[in-house]
Amino acid sequence: MKKPFFALFSLGMLLLLPQQPQAWGFFGHRLINRLAVFTLPPEMMGFYKANIDYLTDNATRPDSRRSVMPDEAPRHFLDVDAYGDSALTRGLRGLPRAYADAVARIGEDSLLKHGIVPWHVARMKGQLTEAFKQRDADRILALSADLGHYVADACVPLHTTRNYNGQLTGQRGIHGLWESRLPEILAANYDFFTGPAPYLKQPSETIWATVIRSHAAVDSVLRLERELTAKFAPDKKYGFEERGNQTVRVYSREFSREYHQRLSGQVERQMRRAVQLIGAFWYTCWVDAGQPDLDALPNTPSDKEQQRLAREAKTLEQAPQAAAPGHED
Ligand SMILES: [Zn+2]
Repeated sequence: MKKPFFALFSLGMLLLLPQQPQAWGFFGHRLINRLAVFTLPPEMMGFYKANIDYLTDNATRPDSRRSVMPDEAPRHFLDVDAYGDSALTRGLRGLPRAYADAVARIGEDSLLKHGIVPWHVARMKGQLTEAFKQRDADRILALSADLGHYVADACVPLHTTRNYNGQLTGQRGIHGLWESRLPEILAANYDFFTGPAPYLKQPSETIWATVIRSHAAVDSVLRLERELTAKFAPDKKYGFEERGNQTVRVYSREFSREYHQRLSGQVERQMRRAVQLIGAFWYTCWVDAGQPDLDALPNTPSDKEQQRLAREAKTLEQAPQAAAPGHED
């Protein structure tokens, strides 16, 4: 009798441990991009609603690209703690907000090693504004979907620390607990009402402020999990669930719910923040491009874009599952 149980347990361990942290997981990213559409003004809503499935389906594409594109991984995080206490302050001791200044001061290799999410969001803000100016529907869609992903990543506290999966503090797995397990179990009860997306006067400042806020939450994300773990017997902390035809070890529902409560709904709050912020970036790009008439654009991706996506999907499917550098086990 003992052997099958042990085999099952080992299988569960295997399935749990190599999980690759992906911000917001599959479920979260899709939901966040989708909900962001509803924060837009009427002049944008028609085009974005017509393409809501595209924006949803492509919300996780940047994570999928990590294993095949060497440039991709650093775009999803910033190891604030790699730079010391004053990293996020303004002025000479803090990280330069302009990428060129950061490269000059820190060197590009080092920057890429520790992640570039706020700089990348700022760069994409420029690209999406340009796509609106060109009235290029395909580019608008592709960049909107990608930008949504990176903005959402910047709202995840564990994307702002070297200890991104609790691996330095014996809390391995916390990444998936915070951003996948909690939303998967609890999002049905989350309140996602955000009100309309605001115009961002200084989008680069906004994304840096977002990273600062996320980083300020790292301590409580880790501490509350540690405190809760001390209260739970291991067999109550974890449970097994069926996923398709696999049995996987997961954080138990009881543990997950109590973690949510101890965090005072932090995951829900950050998710809501991500939704509104994505809408705000899309809206700001459109305004800065002179508010082009989106109803005059084709309201589906072109055949060419669909073919490009199909080709990319095929490449990803065939690619070896190599570990991408940065924020991976
Ligand atoms: Zn990501």
